Amino acid sequence: MTRQICVHSKDKKYVNHDVRESQFSSQSFNGTLTHGTIPNDNALNKQVWDNSEIIYWTNDSDYEHISLKDQEKIIKLALLESSLETPLVIRQRKRKSADAQIKINWLKKKDEKYFKSDSTLAFGYGPGWGLGGNTTMNADVLWIPRRIDAGPMTVKEAYDLGYIENYNREFPNSSVKTYDPLHTLKHECGGHNLGCNHLTDVNLRYSAVMFPYYNGLRRFGTADKKYLHSLYGKASVNHKIKENLLARIFNGISV
Ligand SMILES: [Zn+2]
Repeated sequence: MTRQICVHSKDKKYVNHDVRESQFSSQSFNGTLTHGTIPNDNALNKQVWDNSEIIYWTNDSDYEHISLKDQEKIIKLALLESSLETPLVIRQRKRKSADAQIKINWLKKKDEKYFKSDSTLAFGYGPGWGLGGNTTMNADVLWIPRRIDAGPMTVKEAYDLGYIENYNREFPNSSVKTYDPLHTLKHECGGHNLGCNHLTDVNLRYSAVMFPYYNGLRRFGTADKKYLHSLYGKASVNHKIKENLLARIFNGISV
């Protein structure tokens, strides 16, 4: 069987691919679904959860530059707006409660066959055929939680913070390529794992998280929200409460 997934690549273009399940080394997990999803043969661009509680868990696979605690915080923030905008209830469980439905993990190129191409940042897909959704981040990439308005990180800054081991002292202000994990996790988990496809209208380039190019946005735009509402309906969360909670997306994790 094939499954359509979103692949994020370093040239910033996110592409939908049809891949065979067997191409993933990471897909053999015990998150087989028993409830909560709508059977489908292509988990993008449709409602894939039946409005019940969605459980996710993160692998124990580590990403060296972000502590496990911060990874969990970022994932929680990445799913927050989807949870507030829709009637979906999205919670984290630890791995041992086996009814987890979305698996989120970080793997290195050596451990994930699908990262064999240097340009792959991450991939993600929604649930289907009795298997849960999945988001896998390439742990060989330099993921640094950093707001888009903070600008690029200089090599000196990256060195001082311990992200890189060396740099050319003649050019301390040259920038190092980093990616904001909160944006990419929001695109993958908050969007694709819930059944959203890309929003390809070029006018949405700087305003939609689900635009098929990396743009670093941490908040959904109007089009993203409309798309989620079309799949799941709208939640009746008080606007002020929502804004207060969402302020954490900017303030909670940043360097
Ligand atoms: Zn995508």
